[in-house]
Amino acid sequence: MSSLRFNAVEEAFKKKALAVCPPSKFTSDYYGKYVFNKATMVKYLSKDTIKALTNVIEKGATLDLALANQVAAGMKLWATELGATHYTHWFQPLTDGTAEKHDSFIDYVGAPGEEIIEDFSGKLLVQQEPDASSFPSGGIRSTFEARGYTAWDPSSPAFIVDDALVIPTIFFSYTGEALDLKAPLKKALNAVDKAAVAVCQLFDPNVKKVRAFLGWEQEYFLIDEGLYATRPDLLLTGRTLLGHESAKNQQLEDHYFGAVPSRVAAYMKDIEFEGYKYGIPLKTRHNEVAPNQFELAPIFGEVNLSVDQNLLVMSLMKKVARRHGFRLLLHEKPFAGINGSGKHNNWSLGTDTGVILYAPGKTAEENLQFITFIATTLKAVYKHNALLKASIMTAQNAHRLGANEAPPAIISAFLGSQLTAVLDKIEKSTSEEAIIIDDKKKLKLDIPHIPEVFLDNTDRNRTSPFAFTGNRFEFRAVGSSANCSSAMAALNSAVAESLIEFKALVDAKIAAGETKEHAIFEVIKQFIKESKAIRFDGNGYSDEWKVEAAKRGLDCETSAPVIFNAYTSKTSKELFTKLGVLTEVELEARNEVKWETYVKKIQIEGRVLGDLVLNHIIPVATRYQSLLLDNVAKIKTSFPADKADKLSKLNTLLIVEISERVETIKNAVDSMVDTRRSVNKIEHEYEKAVAYHDKVIPYFDIIRYNVDKLELIVDDEMWTLPKYRELLFIR
Ligand code: ADP
Ligand code: MG
Repeated sequence: MSSLRFNAVEEAFKKKALAVCPPSKFTSDYYGKYVFNKATMVKYLSKDTIKALTNVIEKGATLDLALANQVAAGMKLWATELGATHYTHWFQPLTDGTAEKHDSFIDYVGAPGEEIIEDFSGKLLVQQEPDASSFPSGGIRSTFEARGYTAWDPSSPAFIVDDALVIPTIFFSYTGEALDLKAPLKKALNAVDKAAVAVCQLFDPNVKKVRAFLGWEQEYFLIDEGLYATRPDLLLTGRTLLGHESAKNQQLEDHYFGAVPSRVAAYMKDIEFEGYKYGIPLKTRHNEVAPNQFELAPIFGEVNLSVDQNLLVMSLMKKVARRHGFRLLLHEKPFAGINGSGKHNNWSLGTDTGVILYAPGKTAEENLQFITFIATTLKAVYKHNALLKASIMTAQNAHRLGANEAPPAIISAFLGSQLTAVLDKIEKSTSEEAIIIDDKKKLKLDIPHIPEVFLDNTDRNRTSPFAFTGNRFEFRAVGSSANCSSAMAALNSAVAESLIEFKALVDAKIAAGETKEHAIFEVIKQFIKESKAIRFDGNGYSDEWKVEAAKRGLDCETSAPVIFNAYTSKTSKELFTKLGVLTEVELEARNEVKWETYVKKIQIEGRVLGDLVLNHIIPVATRYQSLLLDNVAKIKTSFPADKADKLSKLNTLLIVEISERVETIKNAVDSMVDTRRSVNKIEHEYEKAVAYHDKVIPYFDIIRYNVDKLELIVDDEMWTLPKYRELLFIR
C-alpha cells in the first residue's frame, strides 16, 4: 500500500480552518501600514521634501542627491520603527516573479573596525548593484561586463516585508539597456499619457494628464500541502504532468456557486488583511469554476502601482497559503481537463479631470470622445494583434489558451450588440448627417443612443480575449502567473501609437479647413473601417472562427516560440522604437530570454515526467501485474485447464494491457530523452525552442495518455501519486 499518499489524504482530512482575526475592527486603522505612502510621508518628511518628491513623481522632475538623502533618512526612520533592519532593491527580471537582495542598514562610521552605525543614504536608496550575472539578459551583458544596476522608481511606494525595507526599482545594464519588465512599462505609460492628453485636448483643453488604469482578477488553485508534497510534478513544475481526470470535476458547476470552503474562507480573509496592510484595495473574492479554484481582485488603480501590487500579492498569497496548510498554484494549467487560471487585465484610461475615457458620457461631446477612444483602441489591437498575443504567451499559458474555458490563441475584440450598433451606424453615415452644430454652438450627434450602462457589458462567454465591459476593456488572455507588465507595456504602446496617428490625421483635416468635429468624425470612421477585422462577438472556440480569423488576416499561430517573433516584426520594432519604449537590441535580447526560458521549462517538465514514469508508474504497474500473474498461476493450478482459462481471462487481459502500456511508455520516455539530447545541441535559441515545441512536447501526450490509462486499471491502494479527486476535492 502506498502509505505516503494515504497518510497525506488522512492528514488533509483532519485539518481545520485557522481562526483569522482582523488586525483591527476598522480597516482604515491599519490600511497601508507597511507602505511609505503620502500619509506616512507627512510624518517623516518635511514639507519641502514632500513637495520636491511629488514633483519628481508626478511631473518627472529630476531627483537630486540632496532630495534623495532627505527621503532616505525619513524612510529609514519609519522602517526602523516598524522593525526593519535591512533594505532591498526589488525588481522585475525578465523571468518570472521578482528579485531582491537584502543588505543590512549597518555600516562603519569611519574606518573599518570603528563604531557601527545604521545608515541608509540617498545613494543607497537611488541605486544598487545587484549580482546581475544570474539574471537573464539575452546576451546584452556579455560575461566580462556583467554589471547591472537597479534604480529607484519613486512612483511606486516603498514598503516593508518582514525585516526589510523594500524599494521598487527598475533594472538596467551598464550600457543602459533595460533588463526588466518595469522600465519599458513606465515608458509605455508615459507615451500613452502624452498621446492621450493631446487627443483629449481636442475635447477639453483642461486635461493635462491621462493615467492608465489596471484592475487584475487573480485566479489561483489551493492544494493541501501534504498532498502537494507527494506530487513531484506539482512541486517542481507547478502543474500535474500525469493524472486521470476525476469522475466528477466541474460538470455540475457546483463549485462556482457553492459556499467558499471554511479553510479557504480563512485563507481569503487572511490574505485580505495582509493586502490591506500594504494598501492593496482587495475587494472581491470568490470560488472559480474548477474545484479548488478561486479568485481575488482589487479595486483598479494606476497601472504601474497595480502591477507592483499584483506581484506583491502573489508573493503574499504564497506565504499565507503555507500558514493555512495549503500550497498556492499560480500555474496557468495545473490540471488537465478542467479550467486553467488567468488574470483578466481590466484596463482603461482616465483624465486628471476625472473622466474615464472608456465610459460613455451624457453629452454629444463626451460621446464623441468616448467613441474616439474606442476606435483608436480597436485600431491598435487590430494592428498589433500578433504582438498582444506574444505579450501574454509563455510555456504555461500556451496550455490554457484555446482550451475550453480560456480565450483562443487568436486576439479579437468583443464589443457587445449596443456598441457594435453605434459603430456600424457611424461607419455608414457621413459627418454631415451625424454631426449637427446648432446656433448655440451645441453639438448634436446623430448616432444611436449610447446608454450609460450597457446591458450586455458583461460578456460571460469568456471566449473573447479582449472584451469591452462597459467602462473598460478586459484583456483576458493574460496568464495567472504572469507579470502584467508585459501585456500592459504592449497594449499601452499600441494605443499610444494609434492615438498619435489619430491626432495627426485630425490636425491635417483641420488644417485643410474642416471643422474639428467633422475631422474627428471622419477619422473615427476611417479607424472603424480599418479595424473591422478585429471585431468578433461569436464563439471563439469554433472551427469556423479559426478559418474566418485566418481569412481576416489575424495572427493564428499557436506555437509559443514562433509567436514570440511578433516582438521583432517590422510593425513592432517601429512601434517600440518610435515611442522610445524598447530599442531593437532590447527587443532581440528579450526574445532570446523568452526562448531560453521556454526551453528550460519544457526541459524540466520532460525530466520530471521521465522520473515519475521510471520511479512511480512503471514499478507500481509491474508490481500490480505480478499480483495478477500470481493469481492467474494459482487459478491454473486449482482448476482444470478449460475452467482456468475462463476464470483467468480478465486478469490475463489486464496483464497484457499493462505490458503493452508499460512498453509504450518506456519507449516514449527513451525517445524523448534521445530527442532532448539531440535538440540540446542546437545552438540558436529560437531553433532550439521550436524543436522543443515540435519534437519534445508530443512525447508528453503519448506518455500521459498511457499512464492515465494505467491509473484506471492498477489497484488504487498501490498507486503512489495522489489522484485528481484527492487534489481537487480535499480542502
Ligand atoms: P467581473 O464582472 O469581470 O468579475 P469585477 O466587477 O469584479 O469584474 O471587476 C473586475 C476588475 O475591473 C476590478 O478590479 C475593478 O476594479 C476593475 N475595473 C472596474 N472599472 C475599471 C476601469 N474603468 N478601468 C480599469 N479597471 C476597472
Ligand atoms: Mg472580469
